[in-house]
Amino acid sequence: MSAEERVYAYSAVLMGSPILLKLFEHDEALAARVFRLIKQYEILLTVNRPQSEVMSINQAAGLHPVKVSPPVFDLIACAHAASLFPESLFNFTIGPLVKRWKIGFRGDSIPPAEEIEALLPLTDPRQVLLDKEACTVFLQQKGMEIDLGAIAKGYIADRVRDYLQREGVTQALINLGGNIQTLSGPPEEAGWGIGLKKPFAAPDALIGVINVRGKSVVTSGIYERYFELNNQRYHHILDPRSGYPLDNELLSVTVISEDSIEGDIATTLLYGMGVEKGLAYLHTRPELEAIFVTKAGKVICSSQRLSSFTLLDSEFQPEIVTDKTV
Ligand code: AMP
Ligand code: MG
Repeated sequence: MSAEERVYAYSAVLMGSPILLKLFEHDEALAARVFRLIKQYEILLTVNRPQSEVMSINQAAGLHPVKVSPPVFDLIACAHAASLFPESLFNFTIGPLVKRWKIGFRGDSIPPAEEIEALLPLTDPRQVLLDKEACTVFLQQKGMEIDLGAIAKGYIADRVRDYLQREGVTQALINLGGNIQTLSGPPEEAGWGIGLKKPFAAPDALIGVINVRGKSVVTSGIYERYFELNNQRYHHILDPRSGYPLDNELLSVTVISEDSIEGDIATTLLYGMGVEKGLAYLHTRPELEAIFVTKAGKVICSSQRLSSFTLLDSEFQPEIVTDKTV
């Protein structure tokens, strides 16, 4: 019997996404505890319900600092640092624009330019005051809103991995709506085969397969959530400089890393950098590996140290970057 035949898959819908847990022993009770853990984090971090710790911070914008629990503080500190990175288009105070566009939440029209213009000053990450000792977060301007959508799933995937490890599980995979973390590989197999989705194609169409063991695989793509208007696509990753969807040569960026939070931050960061700057940045981060898929049909692998990638679709041309090409 192959490992895939011995796998037990448990699914749920949480955080508005399909969640999949794969184990090699049948343990429904464990799966239920994992889903409960994810739900607990969702309750702390969501901005899609009136109440959560993050919503309390947003509701107190311009008024007073809000005390949060240590994991929420640490995650916000992490998002804050990524947002202050030089030339970073990652911006965790993008909330007012995300809410206005509503992309992925039935948004299907372009907000008036003057409304976007008026929201831009409310998306300045330097206006967030963090007090580590008091564990408080203060958004200094009224109307500011934190959005952890680009980082929360990665953080939660790591917490699920840690929990499974504490429970003595040695081989498992958790897929949080495309944000994947793995423990080791399937029994007697080289690794987990993770499909790289073909953008704007059938849901099961793949560009290729990434093989990993005990690593995280995260993808940010403009095909994940978008609407179309007058033959133009408007997707969910926004450019904090303009307030409009970020437009460059990329369809998607996938990052392979040890921790999923690093991958989740890096996909959004690299998406904003584009291929050339992104590859130069990855040179300074040897613990990360990335696969860029471009609108021109190129698949560019920054290296194959952490994973092996097999291209399956002949419409795409592979390119492996060596030190000489960077
Ligand atoms: P991801 O799927 O990890 O690329 O994150 C996309 C989500 O992050 C969006 O749905 C928004 O909630 C949020 N977001 C959009 N634009 C940005 C940005 N420039 N920086 C940080 N988060 C963003
Ligand atoms: Mg991300």
